[in-house]
Amino acid sequence: MAWLWHGFSARRGGVSRAYCAENAPGELNLGFTPDDSRENVLRNRELLVEAVTGSAATPLITIRQIHSSVLVLAGQEDSSREKPCKGDGLMTDQPGLLLGVQTADCIPVLVADRKRHAVAAFHAGWRGTVKRIVEAGVGRMRLEFGSQPEDLVAAIGPGVGACCYAVGEEVFSAFESQFTYGTELFREVNDTEPAREKYPMSFMNQHAPGHAPTAPSLHLDLVEANRRQLLAAGLHPDAISLSGGCTNCQQTLFFSHRASHGHAGRMMSVVGIAE
Ligand SMILES: [Zn+2]
Repeated sequence: MAWLWHGFSARRGGVSRAYCAENAPGELNLGFTPDDSRENVLRNRELLVEAVTGSAATPLITIRQIHSSVLVLAGQEDSSREKPCKGDGLMTDQPGLLLGVQTADCIPVLVADRKRHAVAAFHAGWRGTVKRIVEAGVGRMRLEFGSQPEDLVAAIGPGVGACCYAVGEEVFSAFESQFTYGTELFREVNDTEPAREKYPMSFMNQHAPGHAPTAPSLHLDLVEANRRQLLAAGLHPDAISLSGGCTNCQQTLFFSHRASHGHAGRMMSVVGIAE
């Protein structure tokens, strides 16, 4: 689709040195994090914008993400805003703008209307997902642009996978109470399982007498949760692409808040309408 600009960034190929070894090549941190300089992030953003649109001058619209279901209708005027609006979803039907959401484990979702040429970008962590940011976002596209679900295509980018996303009971309860399919998004994982299969002998005496074995943990599949919301909003299953990849597993490729205990850069997912 020549009219559509879109992309998911990864970790490599920038000027940031805050999250890598001293002798490593620079990285593409795209968020104004406390550990990196504003100058580096602005340069990295230029590199990303130029790679996606062909011109570093294309305005990049971002939001101050707050794990909400707040949606922002973006336009040219937002590119001159000093402080970005608060919210977790951006949409536009104006050409010549790039919309960007930042993630480092949360799930980025991009949606495009092939017929009406409108686009949206969403940031969906577990809180935003429970608040139905993506499902509400498609509803807002219908309202603002007259989008029909059968004309929409979506891409779900890299985030923390079900392999790694252990969550607490409160997260399970929140999903169970909000979605008829809520419980299907979770599975019980015994986190020591892979090691146990590999080295069975070392586990024979792991529990001291009187100590119960550790309980399995609950893992949430946030990609599937957001795919379900796109389906609930009326998208055809074939119109939804998954990038795959787990930010926590693939630390050389992606920034991960979990994997680096909070000391992480940010990736950016961008979408726009070519001029
Ligand atoms: Zn993983």
